[in-house]
Amino acid sequence: MQGTSKAEQSFKPGEAVTESGVYTVVHDRHRQKHSATIFKGEKFPLCARCGEKVRFILLRPSALISEDVDFKQGSDASGQETI
Ligand SMILES: [Zn+2]
Repeated sequence: MQGTSKAEQSFKPGEAVTESGVYTVVHDRHRQKHSATIFKGEKFPLCARCGEKVRFILLRPSALISEDVDFKQGSDASGQETI
């Protein structure tokens, strides 16, 4: 699907997140656009109100500090941490 003038790629709920960053979240009318940080390795979530009609557009890519080459600890491979 091409043909939009902007090079924006939107993601649907259930798709894998391939890039951490701030995403614009676009709902189906019930709410204004807003932004949210989503982390790589997760899946884009369903909206509780508009379900799978919600779309996510990468606004500002942002690597996690723990993934930055100068901050890598190199010991713990899993990025999953619980409180
Ligand atoms: Zn919604």
